[in-house]
Amino acid sequence: MATLNPATGRFRLPARRRAAAGGGPDPVRAALAPLLAAHRTAHRAGPGRPGGLPARSAEAELLRGYAVAERMHRGQLRKSGAPYITHPLAVALILAGMGLDTTTLVAALLHDTVEDTPYTLGELRADFGDEIAVLVDGVTKLDGSRWGDRAEAETFRKIVLAAAADLRVLVIKLADRLHNLRTLRHQPEHKRARYAQASHELLVPFADRLGIHVLKREMDDLAFAARHPEEHEATRLAVRAALSRAGPTFGPATALLRPSLAEHGVKARVGVRPSHLYAVHQAFGGGLAGLRPCEAARLLLLVDGSTADCYIALGAVHAALHPVAGQVRDFIATPKDNLYRSLHTRVISPDGDPFEVIIRTEAMHPVAEYGIVAHIRDAGGDTGPTVAERRDLVWLSRLLAWQSGAPSAEFLDRLRADLAAGHVAAFTTRGDIVPLPAGATALDFAYALGPGTGDRCIGALVNGRLAPMSVQIRSGNVVQILTDPAGAPSEDWLGFAVSVPARLHIQRRLALRRAEQEAEAGRRRLVRALAGRDVDLLAAEARGDSLAVARDLGYSDADAMYAALGTGALGLDDLLARFVRP
Ligand code: MN
Repeated sequence: MATLNPATGRFRLPARRRAAAGGGPDPVRAALAPLLAAHRTAHRAGPGRPGGLPARSAEAELLRGYAVAERMHRGQLRKSGAPYITHPLAVALILAGMGLDTTTLVAALLHDTVEDTPYTLGELRADFGDEIAVLVDGVTKLDGSRWGDRAEAETFRKIVLAAAADLRVLVIKLADRLHNLRTLRHQPEHKRARYAQASHELLVPFADRLGIHVLKREMDDLAFAARHPEEHEATRLAVRAALSRAGPTFGPATALLRPSLAEHGVKARVGVRPSHLYAVHQAFGGGLAGLRPCEAARLLLLVDGSTADCYIALGAVHAALHPVAGQVRDFIATPKDNLYRSLHTRVISPDGDPFEVIIRTEAMHPVAEYGIVAHIRDAGGDTGPTVAERRDLVWLSRLLAWQSGAPSAEFLDRLRADLAAGHVAAFTTRGDIVPLPAGATALDFAYALGPGTGDRCIGALVNGRLAPMSVQIRSGNVVQILTDPAGAPSEDWLGFAVSVPARLHIQRRLALRRAEQEAEAGRRRLVRALAGRDVDLLAAEARGDSLAVARDLGYSDADAMYAALGTGALGLDDLLARFVRP
């Protein structure tokens, strides 16, 4: 392994040229050159970005992390035949390109060591400290042989839990998945489709919910290519053909737009922004023939100014190009629950084609592209924000609130459903936004306000009108929940509760009530049987006999034993013998 001298370790020329120039080629430094360069570029001091990196210590840490990872993975190969280390290196490079901090990059270099090599978490902690150990442990899979079918669900739950303390865990996991998708062609075919589908169902929506659209778009398209290669290729060709004709469509529109923006006193950059392939596929599916430029791209306006200037820009757009009625969506006043902020509108181009225009400030742009990553970057230092600090990540904090009580299989199923559903935003009468999964009902709204409100919910006022709990809530609805102090969840609620926390809570309450009823029934049976033998159960309970018998039989308490008696899991005769002394 190469030893490094940070004092001489300044990298100037590409490794190839350095080697050619006769400077002793250092293989570690050469392998790491692109990563170091990307990391330095992302953290160059610039407008609104003071400082930059403490370059030498950052480099030394990366080189040290790489050296350990390379040594531990040495001899292991990827399915492509490349040395395994190329994978963690690529993951770190993805993260460096997104501007993540040194700690995250070192953790990325080491992210598979504990899982796939003899390197232990203890050694990692001793070598690299707590912070990196927490990140690596967070992305380390639970052992499949030990956890069996539950491994996937438990692993994901573990990642989400770790993300509660440090969101960078999730970002590393997503970059890991992105690189695995990029190299998916080396996997056997049956694995490819399954892996791609799992990505579409879980990781891609997760990236979307965290607002990391750069990762989302690429993972989306890679998974699309793996699952439906022919449709992917057809979409690619159709989009390419459409974009080649973008000039005639967007050119005249832009020509009208620029003077209008100037008249309104708005400074903005105007650009054509292609949609990603999977989005086009989802929108047009089989009807790709004659895909029009306006169907394959949108116009993006980056406003050099304040939030208010976005609304002025919107007016300027509508003054220049006829708007399609009812197509303005204001994700500034009502943000999505993934940090995304922009105005969307649809206008008619001079040649009669409707297309979408997106308006946001330059400051909103990085967050619209990088979501939570932009916030992690801005937080600076080497501490990732916790979810508690990110109050705008409503969805993630909800997820963390309910994951702890969910059985793992249910957790994953419901998470998939929640991610797939999209979302609506309703309001309380005080004007607070309540984000809900699509298809959510007044009952879900009630549970979103708190479990106590949900449990006692008996009806709702939707936009001032009385409605049953099962009524579907739409975006923009103002909802008031009616409660009854004596109210309680019932079995039929599961027929129309849609959101994960509501369903889990109702199921828990129902299970609890069932257990109580079973315990009552069991205890009544025992009381009657003992009465015939002149034993008073109440007195036995007071002496602690009942608890002793329960413990003896392996139950946590007397109620658990009574419940077993109630369901018939425990025989009455077995129990009587222990209470009735000969
Ligand atoms: Mn990996």
